[in-house]
Amino acid sequence: MSEQFLDTNVPGNPAYHFTIQPPVREGGAGWLHRPELVPGAGMATKCVHGGVQPDPAYGAVMPPLYLSSTFAFKDICTNAGYDYTRSGNPTRTALEEALALLEGGHGATCTSTGMSAILVALNLLPHGSHLISTVDCYGGTFRLLEHAKRFFGLEVTYLDLADLEALKAAIKPNTRMIWIETPSNPLLLLTDFAAVAELGHRQPDCLVAVDNTFLSPYLQRPFELGADLVIHSTTKYLNGHSDVVGGAVVAAPGNLPLTQQIQSVNNLLGTSQAPHDCFLVLRGLKTLPLRMRQHEVNAQQLAEFLHAHPAVGKVHFPGLPSHPQHALAKRQQRGFGAMLSFELKEGGNERLNHVLRRLRWFTLAESLGGVESLVAHPASMTHASMTPEARGRAGISDDLIRLSIGLEDVADLRSDLAQALTLS
Ligand SMILES: *Cc1c(COP(=O)(O)O)cnc(C)c1O
Repeated sequence: MSEQFLDTNVPGNPAYHFTIQPPVREGGAGWLHRPELVPGAGMATKCVHGGVQPDPAYGAVMPPLYLSSTFAFKDICTNAGYDYTRSGNPTRTALEEALALLEGGHGATCTSTGMSAILVALNLLPHGSHLISTVDCYGGTFRLLEHAKRFFGLEVTYLDLADLEALKAAIKPNTRMIWIETPSNPLLLLTDFAAVAELGHRQPDCLVAVDNTFLSPYLQRPFELGADLVIHSTTKYLNGHSDVVGGAVVAAPGNLPLTQQIQSVNNLLGTSQAPHDCFLVLRGLKTLPLRMRQHEVNAQQLAEFLHAHPAVGKVHFPGLPSHPQHALAKRQQRGFGAMLSFELKEGGNERLNHVLRRLRWFTLAESLGGVESLVAHPASMTHASMTPEARGRAGISDDLIRLSIGLEDVADLRSDLAQALTLS
């Protein structure tokens, strides 16, 4: 699989060696000690320092934003490591290094959106491949897989990945990718991905890909459980401020060929992320641990409040002991995250609209993972691209409400939900 994608024109590729190193100055505390070389650095340290080193030109502590589309050559085979921003850009490299460090992967590539990150991953598959996806994947992922099926001949099987026997039976000689999203959107169902990865890896050349958008590397580290690829919509928690769309693909530790493939496919598709957007995501990353901790505290309290509320039916949140996979969540995640969904006991569009219109701090909008709380109606919004039958198979009812819990005072969020849920 590796050779067809080998593209020498990608920074990081050993064949790309016509470079001059940036000038190195002597002395200066910490000048040469890149954070990833410090053994045992914690996640918060990695978030602050990942991908960043004092700028060799002026010593700027924060990495400069390089907007230039093109880079000068000194002579026909010498430049400073970059030639054209689609192929590589120093600001993007800083973000890629930070994300690879946080996930514990070998390398990363940053894309214009989460969807283009998924597109890059799908473009690793040779013609005639079969892909197995979790049945309750993100609506956009479903739409892209259906498109690839129709226009590019990708064979796709949707499965409940909790059913390991069904998975075993579905794996074919041409199965080249298993697509996992855990916890899933919007029902917060988990996939035991150590078990799925073990089955997937019995099949030669089969990549186990995990969309880690819902938890971020702060709360879930898929490579430690056998994933080959981690995919992100950095639009969500990684950036965290709802002012960028972006994505990333990270390759497993020790896997240089896969790193080269994702970087070269991103370059050839032209899906690489704009430098300004990379700069913003890198800035957002620095507070990821702080944000995730508070997101989680708020979400746990609100999940418990909703669980006890007389107007609320089922609450889907892995942090509740009533969640069918609460034990798995404790084992495989480092926290429960801040996405939850619930059904109203008394449903119907009128009642649903009554609740949604009364909410003040929760904005009715798609997306998630920002500082502000959002509410969504999956059947008409995030999952409208799924057919009603596919939604039915995935268990997404028309009465389901999804919340992305933000960083407001939890008391305000609780009283907002309480007043919106009153029947009158
Ligand atoms: C939002 C999202 C995507 C798509 O990302 P965009 O940045 O919107 O293109 C993919 N997967 C999951 C789980 C998401 O939440």
